[in-house]
Amino acid sequence: MPPLIGITGRAEQVSTGLSTPFYGAFQSYVVAVREAGGLPLIVPPILNPAHVPLVATRLDGLLLSGGGDIDPAEYGEPGHPLAAGIDLERDRTELLLVRAALENGLPILAICRGIQVLNVALGGTLFVDIPTQVPDAVIHDPKDGDAWETFNHTVHLTPGSRLAAIFDAPALQVNSFHHQATRRVADGLVVTARAADGVVEGLEHRRHPFCVGVQWHPESRFGNQPGMERLFVAFVRAAGG
Ligand code: MN
Repeated sequence: MPPLIGITGRAEQVSTGLSTPFYGAFQSYVVAVREAGGLPLIVPPILNPAHVPLVATRLDGLLLSGGGDIDPAEYGEPGHPLAAGIDLERDRTELLLVRAALENGLPILAICRGIQVLNVALGGTLFVDIPTQVPDAVIHDPKDGDAWETFNHTVHLTPGSRLAAIFDAPALQVNSFHHQATRRVADGLVVTARAADGVVEGLEHRRHPFCVGVQWHPESRFGNQPGMERLFVAFVRAAGG
C-alpha cells in the first residue's frame, strides 16, 4: 500500500465555469504525488474541527496546496485591503490540520499558500502584498497568462538544509506565482531558500522529521528547473513510500 497523502483542497466556482461550487485541487498536485509513489487523496476545506485530529492520524503525509490569501487577522493585520481570495473555512481547516500533522510527526510538504499556512500556524507573520511592502522586490507574481510555463527567478538554498540536500545544488530556477511571503519566521522554522531580493522562498522545521515548505510551484512541470520531482520523491519516501 503506497503512503496515503492528503492534498488540501479548495472551493471553486467562478474559475471553473460550473454552475455549482466544487471542492478540488489542481491535477498537477495529484499527478506529482502519484508519480512519486504516493496515494493522493484530496481533503476538502470544510472539515469539522473536531474531526481534524482523526484525519491527521489516518494520513501518512500532508501536502498543503496553493490558493488564496490567508485572512490577515490570523497574523495580526485585520482588514488589509490588498488581501484577496480569503476563505475562512479553508483557513480554519488547514491551520488545524497542519498543527495536528506537526503534533503527529506527519511528513508535510507545504507549497505556495501552504508555506504561508505553515508559518502562520506556528505564529509567524506574512507580507500581505510583496510589491507594496518589500522594497526592490523581483517580480513574484507576473500578470501574464503564460506565467506557469515561462516565468522564472532564482532562489538560493541554505547550505546544509533539507532543500539543498534534496536538490544537491546551491541555487534553483523556479516559477513564481505569489504576492505574499513570510515576514517574521515562526519559532521552530528556519529559512532554507531566498530570492535575490531577500523574499523567503523556503522554510523547514528544525526538529520535525520532514516538514518542508516552498513558495514556488514544484508540482508544475513547466518553467521549473529539471529535477523538481525530487522534492515529491523525498516527501513520499518520508511518508513511507
Ligand atoms: Mn517567488
